[in-house]
Amino acid sequence: MNSDLEKLIALQQIDSRLAALRAEIAALPGEVARIEAKLAGSKAKVEAAQAAIKADESARRKYESDIKDQQEKISKYREQSLKVKTNQEYRALLSEIEQAEQEIARLEDKVLEIMVAADTRKETLKQAEAALKADIAENEREKEHVRRQTAEDERQAAELGAQRKDLRTGINDETLRHYDRVLKLRGSALAAVYDDQMCSVCRVILRPQVYQDVMQGEATVYCDSCQRILYYVPPPPKEEESKDAKAEGVPRPTAAQPDEAAAQ
Ligand SMILES: [Zn+2]
Repeated sequence: MNSDLEKLIALQQIDSRLAALRAEIAALPGEVARIEAKLAGSKAKVEAAQAAIKADESARRKYESDIKDQQEKISKYREQSLKVKTNQEYRALLSEIEQAEQEIARLEDKVLEIMVAADTRKETLKQAEAALKADIAENEREKEHVRRQTAEDERQAAELGAQRKDLRTGINDETLRHYDRVLKLRGSALAAVYDDQMCSVCRVILRPQVYQDVMQGEATVYCDSCQRILYYVPPPPKEEESKDAKAEGVPRPTAAQPDEAAAQ
């Protein structure tokens, strides 16, 4: 295999990893926004529970003050009833007193409803506060994770960027221009060729001469159809040899996978 081709395969792997890292870095602010939205939801629940308790307290105070008013009214009617001259006036006052008593009974029921609901309200608030506390802790953990992930991704990207620069200086200019053009257009610039004699990405069968050239690996050969730079991947060795190949760190049969994934 010519040295440009080896460098191009390495370059393609670096470019794929860089693209994945950049996508991840770009997605992380969205992750933070999602975490913040969840926390805002928990805060809103606590505030709603607190507001419900406050509203109940204020309603209860209003009912109790209304009860007092009605009681004062009754006292006043009773005093008046001692001074009335006619039965008609007396009955009218009794009717007023009865109405006020009914109103007091209605208001007392309302106060009782609030008192009965108070335990549920308190429990709802307690649960909302506990959920908020857990969410605040989770929020801190997740934001810390995002901060670390971003820093780590950026560190890796910088490292890969430096490796990429080094690799590129060693590759023929024209080949590099072709690589960049196809990468930009198709998302991957290399395609493996196996014994089926096809471009493994666009699935077009190679002309016999092109296949021969790819197998020899001397010249830089392009796919007639998708213009990707082709490289030959020999069939996987037999089991015993396969172990040797692994020991030597030659992952050639899988070298085409980043290209194929990128093309889909
Ligand atoms: Zn092709």
